[in-house]
Amino acid sequence: MGQTRMLVKLAALPIVCNTARVLSHMEPINQALLDILVCPKCRGKVVHRDGKLRCTDTACRLVYPIREGIPVMLIDEAIRADEQTA
Ligand SMILES: [Zn+2]
Repeated sequence: MGQTRMLVKLAALPIVCNTARVLSHMEPINQALLDILVCPKCRGKVVHRDGKLRCTDTACRLVYPIREGIPVMLIDEAIRADEQTA
């Protein structure tokens, strides 16, 4: 019986590791990078929220995706913030 319990513990290890990896993926991106990034449409400042970059310009409000930790600052890839189900 004791051996079975050991196996269960070992099986749970990769799950913990994967969770940590996912969490590290959610970390805010480099602040220095954020400071130099601007919205390509309106040149407004962008902020990092919910794993995406949002233009702070109230008229523009484009949301840019972040893929593999790299912000995709393309108007074609962006979506309007008010189109999202927030
Ligand atoms: Zn903008």
